[in-house]
Amino acid sequence: MTAAANSAFAFDNTYARELDGFFVPWQGDAATAPRLVRLNAALAEDLCLDAAALNSPEGAAIFAGSQAPDGASPLAMAYAGHQFGGFSPQLGDGRAILLGEVMDKTGARRDIHLKGSGRTPFSRGGDGKATIGPVLREYLIGEAMHAMGVPSTRALAAVLTGDMVLREQGPLPGAVLARVASSHLRVGTFEYFAARRETAKLGQLVDYALRRHYPDLAGAPNPALALFGAVRDRQAQLIAKWMGLGFVHGVMNTDNMTISGETIDYGPCAFVDAYDPAAVYSSIDHQGRYAYHNQPVIAQWNLARLAEALLAVIDPDSDKAIALVVPELEAFMPDYTAAFNDVMRAKLGLIGAQDADPDLAQGLLDAMAEGGADFTRTFRQLAADLRDGGHRTKALFSEEAAFEAWVPQWHARLEDPAAASEAMDRVNPIYIPRNHLVEEALKAATTDADFGPFEELLSVLNQPFAPRDGAERYALPAPAGFGPYTTYCGT
Ligand code: AMP
Ligand code: MG
Repeated sequence: MTAAANSAFAFDNTYARELDGFFVPWQGDAATAPRLVRLNAALAEDLCLDAAALNSPEGAAIFAGSQAPDGASPLAMAYAGHQFGGFSPQLGDGRAILLGEVMDKTGARRDIHLKGSGRTPFSRGGDGKATIGPVLREYLIGEAMHAMGVPSTRALAAVLTGDMVLREQGPLPGAVLARVASSHLRVGTFEYFAARRETAKLGQLVDYALRRHYPDLAGAPNPALALFGAVRDRQAQLIAKWMGLGFVHGVMNTDNMTISGETIDYGPCAFVDAYDPAAVYSSIDHQGRYAYHNQPVIAQWNLARLAEALLAVIDPDSDKAIALVVPELEAFMPDYTAAFNDVMRAKLGLIGAQDADPDLAQGLLDAMAEGGADFTRTFRQLAADLRDGGHRTKALFSEEAAFEAWVPQWHARLEDPAAASEAMDRVNPIYIPRNHLVEEALKAATTDADFGPFEELLSVLNQPFAPRDGAERYALPAPAGFGPYTTYCGT
């Protein structure tokens, strides 16, 4: 059994092999009594892993970081980052290790990464640990995002370490999340080497990122500029998807923005319920820097930091480099706007693109803001009303006038209402990780070691578009008593 778990991964570790100087080889801490809370067997199979062998005490020790399996090259990655606008030249994996890379069923390279596995040379004042609540939160939300069609890191396993971890609330059960990403390259990885003026390493990183994520651009005349444009496009698409689901990341620091275009680091994130463009949940985001409606602007700000980091490899003459990259950066907003307009057209069942579509979509959003309509339910209810001629959507609005004025404009734009309602149901989820449901699942796991609510919620979130008998409460907003929602970083 031990041997089977130890040889469950066919590692091929390019980061460790090719990028000497970009990381510190490092091991996870020994966990006292590692226990698997959940193994994502379907994902394990997609990654060509031996799920049965990993579903074992030895698998738990591997996912806790206690035991490095055969072929792993565990390491802590170096990166920098702008956090809330201020630059930290050295962040890095302070509580995580990259175990190694495997090829998935489709031939794509994927990182296996452990978060909460103990202190590293990048830990600064932190304890290197994670607790069960935030681990399950990242598990739930990453899987939900994936099921809703949003590029995201995935959850492979959650383990309890058997050790207690001290947090403000007192001692909490320690845990590790094994997560999977198409890579852990971040804007902050480039900033790290740019800040140290290590131009050769920046060039090496550009080359590596292109080969790994954008192989079609390998022969580009200016590789760094090509990489920048590709990241900009992926981020424009990603943020448009977030906006279309009412997702607030909450901590869009440059160390939390990937080069692959996957969402990473589900910390203080939340979903908007009653639509409010200015929604902010994070306890430390006093200025609303990472508010829902600011996310496109912040993505562009982060991309400006990437552009700066790349200047020396775009052109040794910095004036020339700036002249080359500025138009690429300025293309972000039009790129994002086009992606968001497409998202809204799909949400409203509109076929083809007409000039008035963005205003039509904005008209609904304005009415939703005015009437405090639930973001997720509105779109499903609109489709249901379209199907049977009902008028139930307006009950979601405390102020109905603007909404009622909007409906005939929408109807006039629809060519085939039946087809539109079907198409809408394919893109508008019924079930999202509603803040109160996530909290309920985390609380049961943390205080009572009851993982039932987590399992139930996860299974609902795995099928976000199909109505499920008995799951009605998962589609409803928080009860009135839930109150305003606050999220926390780095817990
Ligand atoms: P995050 O807010 O999770 O993206 O983390 C930002 C930075 O803080 C990263 O360098 C993390 O590795 C580090 N960090 C967060 N929590 C801890 C912790 N408990 N111990 C050590 N480093 C941490
Ligand atoms: Mg982070």
